[in-house]
Amino acid sequence: MSKAPAQEKGKRLPRAATWYEYDYQRGTIRFKNKLCSRCGSVMAFHREPAPRWHCGKCDFTHFVKGGA
Ligand SMILES: [Zn+2]
Repeated sequence: MSKAPAQEKGKRLPRAATWYEYDYQRGTIRFKNKLCSRCGSVMAFHREPAPRWHCGKCDFTHFVKGGA
């Protein structure tokens, strides 16, 4: 009998998945990386709990209007 790999509880998307958005209507992937309007560093996009851009450098947060 072989050892079965440990199953992870709940699927978590890879970090890279937060870098782009899949457009189901057009079937294209749009990269959503953008620079912080305050300090100029790359912002990270988070879908949960609310779609928003967050800058890890200066803690600036920009909520996406009409997202999700
Ligand atoms: Zn910033």
